[in-house]
Amino acid sequence: LFNFKIILGKNGVPVAENFQLQQSTIPDTVQDGQVRVRTLYLSVDPYMRCRMNEDTGSDYLLPWQLSEAADGGGIGVVEESKHNNFAKGDFVTSFKWPWQTVAVLDGSSLQKLVPQLVDGRLSFFLGAAGLTGLTALLGIKEKGHVSAGANQTMVVSGAAGACGSLAGQIGRLEGCSRVVGIAGTDEKCSILVSEMGFDAAINYKKGNVAEQLRELCPGGVDVYFDNVGGDISDAVINQMNRNSHIILCGQISQYNKDVPYPPPLPPEVEKIQKERNITRERFLVLNYMDKQEASVLQLCQWIREGKLKVRETVVEGLENIGAAFQSMMNGGNIGKQIVSVSS
Ligand code: NAP
Repeated sequence: LFNFKIILGKNGVPVAENFQLQQSTIPDTVQDGQVRVRTLYLSVDPYMRCRMNEDTGSDYLLPWQLSEAADGGGIGVVEESKHNNFAKGDFVTSFKWPWQTVAVLDGSSLQKLVPQLVDGRLSFFLGAAGLTGLTALLGIKEKGHVSAGANQTMVVSGAAGACGSLAGQIGRLEGCSRVVGIAGTDEKCSILVSEMGFDAAINYKKGNVAEQLRELCPGGVDVYFDNVGGDISDAVINQMNRNSHIILCGQISQYNKDVPYPPPLPPEVEKIQKERNITRERFLVLNYMDKQEASVLQLCQWIREGKLKVRETVVEGLENIGAAFQSMMNGGNIGKQIVSVSS
């Protein structure tokens, strides 16, 4: 059994050395109401950066504790059960899965998975058919004001990542007539256009983002799915239309800085936002869990029908989870970053 030590830090960039592999023991016996699970897949996500601070800045996230196993989204298989809802061999998931190869967990913390929903591709439940997919779908539905036939242009930042790559595709499925992505490499941009059905993509590390946006969004921007914040978002907001909408999904460009969430816009950009009546309401997927079941079914159906293309970047081995987290924060992933722990 392995787990990790986290070194807390407020400002600064996470490094693989923030995580330490340790051998430990789990309880010998499984008590009533508990199950013993073997971990198959773990998720690394941008929000985890906040859990490396003593104060996470949000009431729904607790800081990871030094010398305790970190936790996050995970999937595993039940090896022994003393909980009525679960039997040996069931596939289960939790948002609070410990970063361990095996664990004894309360059955009440687990949800059973139906692998057939994703044609057996279980790791999708951490991404396109899990919280990531829900974030893209519900973000658009709740804050995007997309309506079919309205000839809307959507821009997505962080577009080749887990949420972004789905958001652009869902924007199209929901009726946007033009979808433009912004991502950090030429390879990502080319995948967005050739595989994911984006009309165009901008590599924000090359050339002038504002100029390229003007060219690629001649009718202005009606819906902006914002994953990154900072300069990229300032450039997009500059070109947003009157009465348009920002889906404030995340602000990853600010996560290594000691700033409040959501970070305020620079005064000149805020002025544009107010004058043009652009909405910028905070979106948090966990506030819409009453829509989880129906939305997951919708996502799974789109996946099975091939309407939603899914990319994953998979790193093997629990010992590499710190490096996988660091790599994802630096743009090393295309689609959802997954850690495969055992098969
Ligand atoms: P992801 O996009 O798969 O991975 C993060 C990506 O961010 C990297 O691949 C990198 O791609 C990009 N990035 C890193 N630093 C950047 C910077 N300074 N400027 C621009 N881009 C940068 O991660 P994800 O899980 O899908 O999360 C995406 C966003 O959604 C995050 O902001 C996250 O906090 C948010 N989120 C919100 C909710 C919610 O409920 N609101 C739920 C889940 C996730 P490049 O190569 O393009 O730089």
